[in-house]
Parts: sequence; C-alpha cells; structure tokens
Amino acid sequence: MKWTPGVVQRKIVWSQGLFTLAVRAPDVAPFEAGQFLQLGIPLEDGQHLHRPYSVASPHGEVLEFFVVLVEEGQLTPHLWKMQPGDKIDVSEKAAGSFTLSHCPTASVLWLIGTGTGLAPYIACLRTAEPWKRYERIVLVHGVRHASDLAYQQELDEHIQRFGTRFRYVPVISRESRDGALNGRITTCLSTGSLENVADQPITTDSCIMMCGNPDMLTEMENILEQRGLRRHKAKSPGQVIVERYW
Ligand SMILES: Cc1cc2nc3c(=O)[nH]c(=O)nc-3n(C[C@H](O)[C@H](O)[C@H](O)COP(=O)(O)OP(=O)(O)OC[C@H]3O[C@@H](n4cnc5c(N)ncnc54)[C@H](O)[C@@H]3O)c2cc1C
Repeated sequence: MKWTPGVVQRKIVWSQGLFTLAVRAPDVAPFEAGQFLQLGIPLEDGQHLHRPYSVASPHGEVLEFFVVLVEEGQLTPHLWKMQPGDKIDVSEKAAGSFTLSHCPTASVLWLIGTGTGLAPYIACLRTAEPWKRYERIVLVHGVRHASDLAYQQELDEHIQRFGTRFRYVPVISRESRDGALNGRITTCLSTGSLENVADQPITTDSCIMMCGNPDMLTEMENILEQRGLRRHKAKSPGQVIVERYW
C-alpha cells in the first residue's frame, strides 16, 4: 500500500467515543463518494496499524472520517486520542464499489445505515449526482441512542433545500424520541412503520444502499428478498448494494 501524509485539521466529538476527524491529505488521488481509504499509524515495534474507513466527504484536500471508538479495538483508541496537528497516514488510492456509479437507476434512492455506516451517505449527499439521478432520497440512520445521531445540522440543511424530495428517518433502538422511530431498522421495515414514516414504499423501482452492522445487513437482505428485491450486479440487475464494515 502506498501511504501519503495526513494531518488532523479538526476533530468533532458527537458523543463519547463517536467522532469525526477532518484530515488534510492533499495527495490522495481523486475518488468517488462512497469509497473508502485506509487510515494508519506506525507502531513502536516497526509495524504499521491500519484499517479501512469510508470517506465521509467527497474528494478534496481535507477529508472527513466518521469513526466510533471500539474500546477493545486496536486502531480506534489511537484515533480517538488524536487532536488537531497530529499526523496520520492515509492510503493514496481509495477503493470500493459502494458508489452511485454501481447503483441501478430508479425513482427512489434509499440510503440505509447503522452507526458510522452513515459516513458514505454524508459524502454522497454533498455531491450533485444523487439529486440529479433520483426523484426522491430517503436516508435511514439506525443508532442506539439519540446522542449518536450525528450530522443533524447538515441533514436539516438538505431537508430545507430539497423539501419533500428528501426524507430523513432516524431509528433509535434503546430510547424513544419525538421525530424518530423506536426500535431496529429491520423491525420497522417488517412492521411497515419505516415506509409509513418515509411516506414512500420500497418497490422494485428503488435503489437501496445498505451499510454498517453485518447482522442488520443480512436481516435486511432477507426481508427485501422476500419482497422481490435482490442484489444488484452488472450481469444480473437488482436493487440492493451493500457495504459490510466487519
Ligand atoms: C469498507 C469498510 C469501511 C469502513 N468504514 C468505517 C467508518 O467509516 N467508520 C468506522 O468507525 N468504521 C469503519 N469501518 C470499520 C474499521 O475498518 C475498523 O474495523 C474499526 O474502526 C475497528 O478498528 P479497530 O482496530 O479499533 O478494531 P479491531 O481490533 O479491528 O476490532 C474489530 C471489531 O470492532 C467492531 N467494529 C468494527 N467497526 C465497527 C463500527 N464501525 N461500529 C461498531 N463496531 C465496529 C467489530 O466487532 C469488529 O469485529 C469500515 C470497515 C470497512 C471494511
């Protein structure tokens, strides 16, 4: 892997252990919104510790990464301690096919993510492409606690700008809050509350991007399959594209 030097420019702490690092890394090659880069640090024993992270911003000189601290994890405790001015290695080239160019054309774009699985959608929604290609966009963000609902101000701005073309549906599993669904995304899909609140049925005229927790992804794919929606592949078109974080 070829590394380029990055410097943390800004750190936003959304809640304990949930944060965004804005990293100045001007030598990263152009990439598509939705792709991921590797972030890494050299260790004292000469090893290099790195992990993939969806970029939460489109290509530019400063790149955002939306990260959750995994207490027992290897890299995230180092990332959580980082402050503006700290150095971080960033892979020169992005990878991944969780991008709109790999999505089928449809009327409605569903962006469904849990936790930090919001990251690729933040990047995508900052570009013009989804707004040009899809009549409506529904963003579904599943979290445990209301305090984990990051990027609220930016999402509000999309609501102000795009009105009924954009629907944002927060889903909170461990507490209730006005304006959010209570429970898990999978349950809300099964009971019909997700589509009710979104004011939008999921049909075969949808493109569904799903990202984050692997259990949610497997369960969602099963439910969607029973409703006649399947993975989109170049040779066998479908509706669903998936990014698995672990
Ligand atoms: C394509 C891709 C994109 C990714 N993008 C992001 C991202 O934008 N933000 C992000 O925080 N992570 C992302 N990840 C996960 C990331 O690569 C690391 O696995 C994670 O940060 C944990 O690293 P660690 O070294 O601290 O933990 P490790 O020692 O590697 O432990 C891994 C364990 O941590 C847990 N875990 C990993 N990722 C998460 C997560 N996001 N939320 C909750 N638990 C998790 C799982 O139990 C996993 O088995 C992505 C992974 C992939 C494959």
